[in-house]
Amino acid sequence: MATIKTKGIIIKRINLGEADRILTILTEDRGKIRVVAKGVRKPKAKLGGFLELFRYNEYLLAEGRNLDLVAGAYTINNLVGIGQSLRSVATAYYIAETVDKLIEETQEINRVFEIVYQSLESISVGWDLDAVKSWFEINLLTSLGFRPELNHCVECRTPVDEGWFSFDLGGMLDAQHRSSDPASIPIGGEELLALRAMSGDIPKQVLPKVAQISAGFMEQIIDRNLKSKEFLAEVTSGFLE
Ligand SMILES: [Zn+2]
Repeated sequence: MATIKTKGIIIKRINLGEADRILTILTEDRGKIRVVAKGVRKPKAKLGGFLELFRYNEYLLAEGRNLDLVAGAYTINNLVGIGQSLRSVATAYYIAETVDKLIEETQEINRVFEIVYQSLESISVGWDLDAVKSWFEINLLTSLGFRPELNHCVECRTPVDEGWFSFDLGGMLDAQHRSSDPASIPIGGEELLALRAMSGDIPKQVLPKVAQISAGFMEQIIDRNLKSKEFLAEVTSGFLE
């Protein structure tokens, strides 16, 4: 039986049958994969303790009929600090769910693994959760090619060092074009600099605005992504009728 080795983080688990689980793993080298862990819900399952959510493991996978099977696993980092509070667990869930929604199996994922691992590790060692969440959002969107325009007005390309941010238009507006999106929100110079830098070291005083922009932008992209999937499904089923 053919086997492969890979390393990755468990981002989702669902129960299958009486004692099995399907794991969704974000791997370092194979993108997002789904595998079956047989018998892991039995009390004395050998692999059970290794296959917890958010665990960063090395896996030995064996070829299965539909999905590959987990034949072995050992933990590289258990990221145990994620369990320190309900809020830190919730932030880790948010990261895992967001990645699962935005990344398809077989999709090229570039830096996504590193971004997710670094975010979860930062949560585990007790970084500010809002800062981690914003850092994750901006970096994930950037690596998937959805970087918001933060240097120029999206309407006239004039360089900006403050202005208004439009979720709909995906970037900054200057005073002249602010009216292009009545829902745009004001951004100060310092806030804009923090958004551009996204070093993870976000100054306290600008964090609320940075968090608002990154979360809103993420919502917008997920929403658009979902709609295009629904649209595709509709179009496809239309052809099949
Ligand atoms: Zn403009």
